[in-house]
Amino acid sequence: MNSAVCLQNVCKHYNDRSVVQGLSLDIQNGEIFGLLGPNGAGKSTTIRMMTTLTQPTQGHIQVANYSIDQIQDIKRKIGVVLQQISLDPDLTVWENMEFHGRLHHLPKSLRQERIHRYLDYVDLLPRQTDSVRQLSGGMMRRLQIARALLHQPEILFLDEPTVGLDPQSRRRIWEIIQELNHQGMTIVLTTHYMEEVEALCDRIGIMDQGQLIALGTLATFKQDHGEGLLVKQVGATNRSQWEYQFFPTLAAAQAYLDQQCDRVGMMVRPVNLEDIFVELTGRNLD
Ligand code: ADP
Repeated sequence: MNSAVCLQNVCKHYNDRSVVQGLSLDIQNGEIFGLLGPNGAGKSTTIRMMTTLTQPTQGHIQVANYSIDQIQDIKRKIGVVLQQISLDPDLTVWENMEFHGRLHHLPKSLRQERIHRYLDYVDLLPRQTDSVRQLSGGMMRRLQIARALLHQPEILFLDEPTVGLDPQSRRRIWEIIQELNHQGMTIVLTTHYMEEVEALCDRIGIMDQGQLIALGTLATFKQDHGEGLLVKQVGATNRSQWEYQFFPTLAAAQAYLDQQCDRVGMMVRPVNLEDIFVELTGRNLD
């Protein structure tokens, strides 16, 4: 099966600054792929290159079996939801959809039918005559998703889809992403939320300082690093630091703890993605 997205040795420089360095990556058809990394890691730049919004300085990118310079062909196959709200605040919800449908040359009856279907899909049909200004942040994000679906893309790219949203809005967007994926759509998203990756992604690429530093599933990351963690408080309580020790299993971590004469300041818990991220990069995400 062909990849949905293939990057080979992709680099991006801004002036003399290298913000993406030698990125090689295959995203499979039908998967939810998450690019995870701290702010400034190069995630948005990578998504902008995959969606033809900016050109790589070097390397090769293929999307939906088209080379990245076949821009019109690619645009028919992809939907894009960027971080910045790109809706027209002076238009209504329906009018924003209408405008986008016309840009994609959808004939009127098909356009109307799809606007209705996708506004309904993201629970915005009752708000169709409201101005975009009247919508909450979560509603705007859902409208952006509905708009990106109008031409029925094969691959949906979402750059930080839930940043700044309240927990309910975030959960609803996760449900929408999962439903779209169950219907066969490939999803590529960037995030710096660990729980988003854990909830949604089949595979994860961790980026740091423009490079892909790890690639796999949550299960393979845990296999590689361990599933049990011993957390130990060191130093004086007012300036305490934490040391982390990985064990293959939670039981192994517990057995180690049980052998210690002095267990003060020690605890055992299951490893999570954030622990692995900190182990790989030496720093916290936020
Ligand atoms: P992320 O999405 O992981 O937060 P970005 O891809 O937005 O990271 O940014 C990576 C680096 O590239 C940052 O240091 C950012 O300042 C820089 N950068 C992004 N876009 C531009 C641009 N248009 N011009 C110059 N520098 C940029």
